[in-house]
Amino acid sequence: MSKINSASSSTPKLSELETANALLQEEIRQRKESDLRFRLAVKGTTAGVWDWIDVNSNQEWWSPQFYNLLGYSPEELDATLENFEAILHPEDSARTFELVNKHFENRESFVVEYRLKCKTGKYRWFLGSGQATWDVDGKPTRMVGTIVDIHERKTAEAAAKQNALDLKKKVTELQELTYVASHDLQEPVRTIASFADLLKQNYTDKLDTAGNQYLDFMQEASNRSQQLISDLLDYTRIGKNQEVTDVDTQQILSVVLADLTSRIKDSGAKIDADQLPIIKGYPIDLQVLIQNLLSNAIKFSASKHQPLIKIGYENLSSEHHFFVADNGIGIEEQYFDRIFVIFKRLNARAEFEGTGIGLAHCKKVIELHNGKIWVESKVDKGSTFHFTIPHLP
Ligand code: ADP
Repeated sequence: MSKINSASSSTPKLSELETANALLQEEIRQRKESDLRFRLAVKGTTAGVWDWIDVNSNQEWWSPQFYNLLGYSPEELDATLENFEAILHPEDSARTFELVNKHFENRESFVVEYRLKCKTGKYRWFLGSGQATWDVDGKPTRMVGTIVDIHERKTAEAAAKQNALDLKKKVTELQELTYVASHDLQEPVRTIASFADLLKQNYTDKLDTAGNQYLDFMQEASNRSQQLISDLLDYTRIGKNQEVTDVDTQQILSVVLADLTSRIKDSGAKIDADQLPIIKGYPIDLQVLIQNLLSNAIKFSASKHQPLIKIGYENLSSEHHFFVADNGIGIEEQYFDRIFVIFKRLNARAEFEGTGIGLAHCKKVIELHNGKIWVESKVDKGSTFHFTIPHLP
């Protein structure tokens, strides 16, 4: 009995054999299924597939599309690690293998952009990615991955980067040129102005009426040139030598209103303002911005009637929104963009004094803060200048 028992414990029963067989069949079926899935995926994808069957050996397997992407045939280039290293751009090699090692050691995901030399002799950019398998001791055994051609995107990115750099360089050069030109112009213009003043003081009685009138024109023109040059210099200095700080715009408004006291009084302007916030920005530039908008609102309303001015504020989810509204002469819609261009004015100087730089200045200040500035207006009804400044952390 005991013999029979011991025999039955070492020899599997028929039912156990059948179960084991069924499991084996199922495993074979699943393997075949996944093998088919892999082969179909390899065939259908535009990516090139590589299989480093044993990571301790040199031999690899590359899919037909892998060869297509590089322009080689399997006869021309053996699928080996050595050949992959030979076509990998020398500048990308260290980074790529460092990432492979990190993947093997820490199982960090392996995704890398590198250049491979194609049969044409030229390098193209590819996105490489892969996944290893590990044995029970945690040693990498095999690695399978893909390459995707990203050459067009990479070259477009590089060109865009270069264009941005070139543009930045040109803007800096232009700014320097404007600064130097306006700075150097100051001196001769100042000399003309002071000699015109001397002439006026000491020689008025020696000149006839026409001569005196010419002298007045000269003085006027040199004063205007001085004003233009000083405005231009201020414009070139926007954002320079300043740090982003907390700016109390309510406080700025008080300073601006104090500066404009006599103009407010003379024009009888009534100014109504919302409570303004503390924001992150460049304090001096924001003061000039508010000053320009407010003085324009007074200037372009006062000729008609009592200026009624509203300074509004609302806190939106991603930005601060301010506006300055007046009941002045208004602006035709066709000029809504033009008025922000430097030296562009819509009115005769005799009618409204100014150099035409104020709104260009405002636009540059707002761009420095990555915000937007625009106008809404109706002729003879008034204008509203809006500007936004994004919330900064
Ligand atoms: P300036 O005030 O020195 O002429 P700006 O650059 O500040 O220069 O403004 C450009 C032009 O935009 C002005 O000449 C004027 O024609 C128009 N403008 C600006 N603000 C207003 C306003 N509040 N109402 C009507 N027109 C305006």
